[in-house]
Amino acid sequence: MMNTIFTPPMYIQRYEFVIDFVKKNKPKKVVDLGCNDCTLLRKLKFHREIELLAGLDIDSAVIRDKMYELAPIPTDYLQPGDHPLTIELYQGSVTERDPRTKGFDLVTSIELIEHLQLEEVDRFTEVVFGYMAPVAAIISTPNADFNPLLPGLTGFRHYDHKFEWTKAEFQTWAMKVCREFGYVVAFTGVGQIPAQEESIGFCSQIGVFQRDRSGGDATRLQSNVTEEHLPYRLLYNVVYPSLCDSNIFQRTLVNEVLYWAETLRREWLEETTGEGEEESKQTDEEEEDCSRERMEREESQTGEEQEDRERVEADGRGFEVENEEVEVQGRTDRGQEEPYREGQSVCVSLVRLWSCPRVQALSGTVQRLTEVLLEDSRVQLTNDGTAVVLADSDDEDLEWVETCDNTGTGQFLVSSVENEDWETELG
Ligand code: SAM
Repeated sequence: MMNTIFTPPMYIQRYEFVIDFVKKNKPKKVVDLGCNDCTLLRKLKFHREIELLAGLDIDSAVIRDKMYELAPIPTDYLQPGDHPLTIELYQGSVTERDPRTKGFDLVTSIELIEHLQLEEVDRFTEVVFGYMAPVAAIISTPNADFNPLLPGLTGFRHYDHKFEWTKAEFQTWAMKVCREFGYVVAFTGVGQIPAQEESIGFCSQIGVFQRDRSGGDATRLQSNVTEEHLPYRLLYNVVYPSLCDSNIFQRTLVNEVLYWAETLRREWLEETTGEGEEESKQTDEEEEDCSRERMEREESQTGEEQEDRERVEADGRGFEVENEEVEVQGRTDRGQEEPYREGQSVCVSLVRLWSCPRVQALSGTVQRLTEVLLEDSRVQLTNDGTAVVLADSDDEDLEWVETCDNTGTGQFLVSSVENEDWETELG
């Protein structure tokens, strides 16, 4: 019934509330109490600041139902995060203390407490705010004051609810939490407030708690974890690939380099051989225009601006100053910023590849890029190590993979050998 009177449905609005909080506050460790079929966790896993995402529910069947949907997908291997994401799912009760739930930045408890007996709420309160002691907690529960506005409702909103608090009852409980455990709370909610009924409040009332004292005991000390009683049962545990793993870093950077090298080669071939004479003439003219424009621009620059520009260009290339002169000379002579032919092959300079933002972000400097590529048998470099050589036969071993994730759509060049590795890893 609830879902029919709100758009989007209430449960989606509650998830969106949590997601907005996560976007704003960027917690690294998040645990969802009463996670049910892990719907909220599946949404949160896309927030790459999160390093540890845990879920707890008393009902193991409901967790097991969809827990494998939390496994990494091929995109997670193709676009790994900067740091690993660990996901842990536990079966257990929020009324019990388990040291693995300590030291979280954010605890969420969405429409859970009303499923507890009132005496269990006291234990829940002590476990969450006294023992787990997170930096922040989001607690949501139905607002009983709103019930008369729900069409056809008699009694509680769900057969398993043990109570439903009015706004005043929820706020009394929350203020007591703050006094006893050192938190501050902000009251809010989701579910549109009817125009004339503002005093009634939201359909789902939410307390956002923030710890207002330094929680010295809140650190998740792994060494203690093994020594203490662990009442929760670990049902699922997965660590996502990340750039912290040197193999994954190398593979990601090489994929990116090969993708861009191939793209630049195709564009260059189209420009230089694929078009008619008229087209080439036009390109030459355009180039001439460009150099003229550039010269004019440079002439109009002050000495300081010119120095700045040169420094930026030099920094961008990441070379030592002595090398820079030699390299720049070489490139200028041979026009190496653009691809060039060597026999049957096309070469794409590392400086040009490094100017691609993702390659730059991953490698840092051209020198580092060179070092990584020298170590990888999938990449052939010119003898002087300044360019990637793309032999015509490359296409046989490589295929383009289209993929998309929450960040958009990407294209990746992968070898069939790598595909086999992923299958094993995903196994
Ligand atoms: N938080 C989810 C959401 O917003 O979609 C699910 C809410 S559902 C109404 C309540 C969940 O709390 C159920 O999955 C139930 O199994 C779980 N639950 C009830 N008592 C619990 C307890 N003592 N400890 C942990 N989970 C409990």
